[in-house]
Amino acid sequence: MSTSTSSKTVLVTGASSGIGEATARRLASLGHSVLVGARRTDRLTALAEELRADGMSVAHRELDVTSLQSVQAFAAAAVREFGRIDVLVNNAGVMPLSPIADLRVAEWEQMIDVNLRGVLYGIAAVLPQMRQQGGGHIVNVSSVSGHRVDPTAAVYSATKFAVAALSEGLRQESQDIRVTVVSPGFTQSELTHRGGSAEAQGAAREAAAQLAIPASAIADAIAFAVQQPAAVDVNELIVRPTAQG
Ligand code: NDP
Repeated sequence: MSTSTSSKTVLVTGASSGIGEATARRLASLGHSVLVGARRTDRLTALAEELRADGMSVAHRELDVTSLQSVQAFAAAAVREFGRIDVLVNNAGVMPLSPIADLRVAEWEQMIDVNLRGVLYGIAAVLPQMRQQGGGHIVNVSSVSGHRVDPTAAVYSATKFAVAALSEGLRQESQDIRVTVVSPGFTQSELTHRGGSAEAQGAAREAAAQLAIPASAIADAIAFAVQQPAAVDVNELIVRPTAQG
């Protein structure tokens, strides 16, 4: 049985920067075996080598969460490497902000593919193994935007509200799988670096520069949920800067 002190096998998606990287560092430092995935394998290789040099148990693998096959191969690699899957941190995400009227349809699709479909693929890839083991833990990284809607973030919010809905459904249907939704506010990462309209992304970057908390703050919240005993399921954590409105 999993307990707060046992070493677990943890999969982290989107671990090449920001919250995913910080989470991998935190969980590995607690003695868990961690498989990190993302598309930028150079970043993953450097992270895994650094942590292994410090005596931690870390493996890495290229991962594109928009491909079910890639996510299934990621889960299979964890079983091959570590023998089981205890925790999946569905963290990979994109946030190309823009007003709906800009009709940046390809970016809407990308947000749905990564932030929603990717989370579902993660669940599909690990659930059979967790059921076979008699337990497991799925941590979905949502957002404050999964609790409120703001201009230029409508589609992003829609994906994060959807993650909250499917997490609650999974929780209700599961007797032995823990389900946690972690919703960060402004956090230091590379999230605003890619895509979106220049104006919307610039405003988000400016707000983040004023307010953002370190990614390690979110990693600590995820670690808190992971470290609970198997019978204790922390369902929702919102972690944002004190000064965020
Ligand atoms: P980053 O941009 O720093 O990290 C995003 C991660 O997702 C990267 O590792 C990236 O890796 C990965 N990723 C993107 N697309 C894919 C894909 N198709 N397949 C696999 N991995 C992918 O941002 P954050 O750390 O901030 O983002 C992490 C999560 O936190 C996201 O879900 C985001 O929505 C959420 N969040 C962040 C907030 C913030 O203020 N920073 C606030 C609220 C929520 P690569 O490009 O190498 O594949």
